[in-house]
Amino acid sequence: MKANKILLGLLIAFGSGQVLAEGAAHWTYEGKENPAKWGDIDKTFESCKLGKEQSPIDIQSKDAKKAALAPIKPAYKSSAGELVNNGHTIQINLADGGMTTVPSGGYKLLQFHFHTPSEEKIDGKNYPLVAHLVHRNEAGKLAVVGVLFKTGKENAALKTIFANLPAKEGKAPLAANLDTSALLPKSLAYYTYNGSLTTPPCSEGVAWHVLKEPVEISVAQVAAFQKIFQMNARPVQPLNGRVVQASE
Ligand SMILES: [Zn+2]
Repeated sequence: MKANKILLGLLIAFGSGQVLAEGAAHWTYEGKENPAKWGDIDKTFESCKLGKEQSPIDIQSKDAKKAALAPIKPAYKSSAGELVNNGHTIQINLADGGMTTVPSGGYKLLQFHFHTPSEEKIDGKNYPLVAHLVHRNEAGKLAVVGVLFKTGKENAALKTIFANLPAKEGKAPLAANLDTSALLPKSLAYYTYNGSLTTPPCSEGVAWHVLKEPVEISVAQVAAFQKIFQMNARPVQPLNGRVVQASE
C-alpha cells in the first residue's frame, strides 16, 4: 500500500487540517456512488475495495483482547478554528488544539468531525452519532480517537456549534475558541485496532482508538445534525483476522 501512503501524505500536506482531498472525485453515502462503489470511482480510491485493514468495524467486546495498554493522555487546549461543511460531514479544523498521547506515541490534534449513525458498532449496535478526533504525528501517521454519543441531556460542549451548523458547503471561523477535551467522557478506556480512513481514499495505516464510555447528546442536537446529513456512515468492514485490543 505504498502508493496510498504517499497519497495520504499529499492529502495531509494541504495543511488545513482536512484529511479529505480538495477536488477529489465525487462520492456519496447513498445512490450511485455509495460505499460499495467507492473503490471503482477513482484509481486513487482503490484501497476502499482492495484494502484488508479497513474501517469502520463492528467491535465484539467478548473478542477484544484485554491488554496492558498505555492510557490515552490528551493534552488538548483551547484553540481558534473553523467550522466546515465539506459536503460529507461537519468538521471543525483547529488552529492549535493541542495533542494527545496514545500507545504509539504523541500526535497533534488536527480536526474532528461527525458521523450519524456512529460508523463503528459495538456488539452489533451503533450509536446515533460519533465524533472522530483526527491526529497526526511528526512522521505523518494518523491516529483517530472515536467518541460515541448516546441520547440524553444536551451536550454543553457542542451547544454553540450544533445551534449553528452550516447547512450549505463552505467554511466559517468558529464563533469562540474551543477546547476539545470538553468532548471527552470521564473514562478514557478504549478499544484499539489498525484501520483506515472511513472515507475515500480509504488509506490504511490509521491507528484507531474507540472510547468505551459514550457521552450524552440531546435528541434535538442529533436531529439538528441529521437535518443536514441524514446518514453519513460507511458500513462496517471485515476484520480479516485483525485483533482488537481493549485497555484494562
Ligand atoms: Zn470520521
